[in-house]
Amino acid sequence: MTKTSIICDICGNEISVSDKNSANPQNHKVTVPVIFHTNQEDGRPVEPYVSFESIDICNECLMRLTNLHADGCQGYNEYFWDTEIDKI
Ligand SMILES: [Zn+2]
Repeated sequence: MTKTSIICDICGNEISVSDKNSANPQNHKVTVPVIFHTNQEDGRPVEPYVSFESIDICNECLMRLTNLHADGCQGYNEYFWDTEIDKI
């Protein structure tokens, strides 16, 4: 099985994509909200703002990034923050 290596944009670790997944080379990309501290055209510091970016991300970073949890089935989902897990 041939593997393609992709580097996580956050931690720099390698993301291995198997042949099975390489049919869709974008499957490691995730669109996430990020807080930018610079203007994206000239790099000038600005008030922080949210931008949705499609980035290469490993599973470990994806789990760190995600604080929103859900329980549910058949379209009936309940969403909650990780701080509320102890209350369930
Ligand atoms: Zn990573």
